[in-house]
Amino acid sequence: MKVLDLIEKLNLENNLTKEEIVYLLTHMTEEEKAILFDYSLQTKRKYYGDTVYMRGLIEFTNYCMRNCKYCGIRAKQFDANRYRLTKDEILKCCDQGYWLGYRTFVLQGGEDPYYTDELLVDIISSIKKRWQDVAVTISIGERTMESYQAIKNAGADRYLLRHETANDDLYEAIHEDMSLSSRKECLNNLKAIGFQVGAGFMVGIPGQTPEILAEDLLFLKSLNPHMVGIGPFIPHAKTPLGGYKGGTVEDTLVMLALTRLMLPKVLLPSTTALGTLDNKGREKALKVGANVVMPNLSPTDVREKYELYQDKICTGDEAAHCRQCIEGRINSVGFHVDMGRGDYDSWR
Ligand code: SAH
Repeated sequence: MKVLDLIEKLNLENNLTKEEIVYLLTHMTEEEKAILFDYSLQTKRKYYGDTVYMRGLIEFTNYCMRNCKYCGIRAKQFDANRYRLTKDEILKCCDQGYWLGYRTFVLQGGEDPYYTDELLVDIISSIKKRWQDVAVTISIGERTMESYQAIKNAGADRYLLRHETANDDLYEAIHEDMSLSSRKECLNNLKAIGFQVGAGFMVGIPGQTPEILAEDLLFLKSLNPHMVGIGPFIPHAKTPLGGYKGGTVEDTLVMLALTRLMLPKVLLPSTTALGTLDNKGREKALKVGANVVMPNLSPTDVREKYELYQDKICTGDEAAHCRQCIEGRINSVGFHVDMGRGDYDSWR
């Protein structure tokens, strides 16, 4: 096998075998990596040109009943300072976001049973009623089919649920009382209901091998989601995985580029976790095929409390500041902001 032949094949066929992906991941030189990045950027440009979509992120609760071993807001992280936003507070964030030009709001939170279907339906339908030209994305973990359906009926357009890792054993090692099969079932349910669906994984999880990363890519290929969130694992001292090394920017960029070539039209965010590891991390991701950024719209007094990992950036900034800062960063690498809804098929 030759690395360059594999990159050519991936570019032409948008697929590789597990063995081929592992070979790429373990043999690629710096020069070959540059060629991979060139192809992934060209592919992004083919469908999306220089456009980067903006999504306003509202982190509305850091209460969580789960115990993901990497996450700083896990239930057993007793030092976390917990908060919940009321419906009015969420609507205020949207109001400010709409005024700043955002046309997608992403409501993300821990798995918090306080937000019943009834309350979520009220919040989502109020947003959709007040601003008819916005898309609403929900990211609140695993719920029942009925719950997902209620959220969809209320007007939610998209749902983000990273699979975290596509390897059963690794999945069980980094979660408590959770299984990859139920995560996958949720993703399938969300697709069946008609959401635009986002999956994704972390790079650099302790115990993750090139074989497992290949499984992540092949799982994504078979799921064929509309969106894929990929970020480096960043240790949080007050979690069971706090003593391990985190993922690197370089490895994350490779996985972003491979994902762009496996799923050419996918909406691929340049994540905050990348910006946390490297001041230019998000710009680097845009240069290898990412085409979405998610600036924060959460009220500044709760930002620090949504601490999934340590040293998260932008926790002190006003929403308007984030909007300007990100636009400057996007322009600095030759791309331009599109404030539209940016649905999956907008590349047509
Ligand atoms: N409760 C929701 C939202 C989770 S937070 C859900 O279950 O989908 C969003 C994402 O942050 C997670 O899917 C995970 O991939 C990421 N994350 C959590 N802790 C992290 C850490 N320590 N380092 C990097 N990413 C992390």
